[in-house]
Amino acid sequence: MDRSLTYRRHIKSLRKKLTSRVALLRRLAGSGQGAGATTLRIATLVLVHSTAEYCTPVWCRSAHTSLIDPTINDTLRIVTGCLHHTPADNLPILADIQPAELRRRGATLSLGRRAMKPGHLLHSALIHPLGAAARRLKLRHPFVPAAQHLISFSDNNNILAAQWVDHQWNPEWADDPTRLRTLIPDTGTPPRMTLPRRAWVQLNRLHTGVGRFRSCLYKWGMASSAACKCGTEQTVGHVVLHCPIHRPPHGLHGLTVLDDETTEWLLNGSLLKQTCSYQSTHNRPRSLQTCS
Ligand SMILES: [Zn+2]
Repeated sequence: MDRSLTYRRHIKSLRKKLTSRVALLRRLAGSGQGAGATTLRIATLVLVHSTAEYCTPVWCRSAHTSLIDPTINDTLRIVTGCLHHTPADNLPILADIQPAELRRRGATLSLGRRAMKPGHLLHSALIHPLGAAARRLKLRHPFVPAAQHLISFSDNNNILAAQWVDHQWNPEWADDPTRLRTLIPDTGTPPRMTLPRRAWVQLNRLHTGVGRFRSCLYKWGMASSAACKCGTEQTVGHVVLHCPIHRPPHGLHGLTVLDDETTEWLLNGSLLKQTCSYQSTHNRPRSLQTCS
């Protein structure tokens, strides 16, 4: 029994369990023609999130909870094909899975609402909580005050906890300073998961601005120069808007509406094949990994 109730040991063993499931997902995604985004998203929810969120209202306020977040981000990188340097807050939007921290708060709210109903095991604890002096085990951040706070905070009790999570996510995303927010302005925008895996990965890297562009490869020490074949610095903005060699057939508009020509361009994406000074597929450097 962990009498300090910090849940450190539990969270560390949970992280170990999640890591083996991430390896399973990586096999499913493969290196090129792996499972599609929809399949990977469902597999992530079933294999990783179900485990990561088991009994989460009990331990999610521990100071050690964030230990499992990098592993969850790894799974989202596998789903989206995004590289290691992609901002972590871009990953849930592209994978269409709410951020882990919000999902944990949603689970606390859901349990709190169920406990409000008479007959529930936690009903009396929630309605008549024990004072700090009467508690045998000292929790720094117990469930009851957190649940009471969330219940009073979620003023519209008619919406489901999952919908409440979406309502919280939207304003958080609206303040995001990354490039992706200007392209996907709200969390309800469909993330085009029906595209073939190769096109989907290419699109996500163009949207986030982190991919095998010369400027990125140069920054990571994997190219001798940031210059494009056309002579200008090869940033994502240059590729999408100005490059006479790599520009998509209908520019940024084509990437938004995804017409047939743009989809074909994404599928044959020369940028994904772009060479760098690192060529071996073994011991691939961290920057080119889809997860850490
Ligand atoms: Zn160019």
